[in-house]
Amino acid sequence: MKRILYPAFVFSVSTALAGCSLFGWGGPKRAAWRGQAEQACLSSGAVKPSADVRPIGEVDGPGACGADRPFKVTALGRDQRLPLNETAAMNCPLVAATDTWLERVVQPAAQAFFGEPVVAVEHMGAYNCRNIAGSRYMSEHAYMNAIDVSGFKLADGRTVRVKNGWRSADASEANFLRTVGGEACDDFTTVLGPASGAAHQDHLHLDLARHSKGRHVCRGGDEPVPAGGRLFSFFKDDTIFPEDKVGTTGSIGEEDAVDGVGEPDETVLDK
Ligand SMILES: [Zn+2]
Repeated sequence: MKRILYPAFVFSVSTALAGCSLFGWGGPKRAAWRGQAEQACLSSGAVKPSADVRPIGEVDGPGACGADRPFKVTALGRDQRLPLNETAAMNCPLVAATDTWLERVVQPAAQAFFGEPVVAVEHMGAYNCRNIAGSRYMSEHAYMNAIDVSGFKLADGRTVRVKNGWRSADASEANFLRTVGGEACDDFTTVLGPASGAAHQDHLHLDLARHSKGRHVCRGGDEPVPAGGRLFSFFKDDTIFPEDKVGTTGSIGEEDAVDGVGEPDETVLDK
């Protein structure tokens, strides 16, 4: 992370700042793992810059907000590019995870439930420098590490939205949305949907926070599949969003609270 130091001030304030590792000159810093995750993602080649995934350079602040090497994204997906309704500022791991989810889960589910592919994705925001509502913790949105997905446009022109589709009488819509939400727990570390509270009635909050013990926090609702609905093949039972689905990546550890930014415990829900 680049820090701008003004030499005329450095001499006079350096003593005052000595020993202050939490809030040094320029305010709180992003946790080191964030930049490391970006670098690892970029090195992996999982995200390749293109006309619709454009590097925008470091965004540093206000405060700890931002990302080292983020992208301005106008379309997501690997084999098939899916335009977004609005440009999203996203970090590399978030682009990679979303691309994986779209290919691994969303497109197969769309074929299974509607017999056609998704051709565009609607979201309600990615980057937003703010705390989690009602808490002292920074939202993952503040680090370009979260996106709120609200709908999917199908090839026939219909858009399936969380707001009306989650509890739709149309079992295909409800099942599709619960499938893509539930399965997102494997690609993201936090998934929050309509049954997690009033803040998520119209979108799926997807982020890559590092929760303690490598946990994945997935709370969309333990609502059963609607009558007449069919379970998608990768459901093992009708618990669509397990309360605490343990991730397969394991040993991430508790390192988020190193810079004074801290990590919400799992009772504090991002939005
Ligand atoms: Zn969100």
